[in-house]
Amino acid sequence: MAAVILVTNDDGVHAAGLDALAGALDELGEVYVVAPDREQSAVGHSLTLHRPLRVTQVGERRFAVNGTPSDCVNLAVLGLLPGRPVLVAAGINHGSNLGDDVTYSGTVSAAMEGTLLGVPSMAVSQADAGTAGFEGAALVARLVASRLLVEGLPAKTLLNVNIPGGTAGGIRMTRLGHRVYRDKVVQEVDPRGQPYYWIGAGPPEWAEDEASDIAAVQRGLASVTPLHLDLTHYGALGRMGDWEGSLNALLKKWPR
Ligand code: MN
Repeated sequence: MAAVILVTNDDGVHAAGLDALAGALDELGEVYVVAPDREQSAVGHSLTLHRPLRVTQVGERRFAVNGTPSDCVNLAVLGLLPGRPVLVAAGINHGSNLGDDVTYSGTVSAAMEGTLLGVPSMAVSQADAGTAGFEGAALVARLVASRLLVEGLPAKTLLNVNIPGGTAGGIRMTRLGHRVYRDKVVQEVDPRGQPYYWIGAGPPEWAEDEASDIAAVQRGLASVTPLHLDLTHYGALGRMGDWEGSLNALLKKWPR
């Protein structure tokens, strides 16, 4: 049996970027598409645990799920696919997922879910997806996936790939950039006189960092950032060793 590759996204099963990614990886294995039945952008890593998930076959090796990107990966890897996939690829997202934004991204979360399930995983996103086609992004995705399938990835590590609008002038290995929040929340009043708020209204601002993913994409390069899912800060854990003694001393003094 050919190696199974799972392709998913957060823009929904009918998104053009999903087709582009499935097509790009077609030569590398038997591609199965399991994707949300509607757009699920910015849902983060949420899982649906309190209602049943329904799967609808919408084509050959192609399934729609009434859930989140992480639901799709979990469901596919742990049940739906005929074998364990050699790769989980999420995207091509319509819009970049750079820097701190990866924590909100449904696309990156799908790749995180694959990683947590022990499958080498990558997220692929394209800036300015409305104007440019996906051909350039698909080529970068195929090149990165080919290398990933040969080399593997360290434990708990995934790749976050971003492609600028149009054709990438090159590919750069990067680290995550950092978003700076300067804008305040927008507060307006609705037609019934009630206040409402709008977050994320202004254009994103980024800290200056030439080694970052955002800098690469701004220079017209594709970025490949390895992300690590062990979120423990071992340095802090070492430095904060004395917290344990003092917190326990306080806890003992508390009447129970
Ligand atoms: Mn999206």
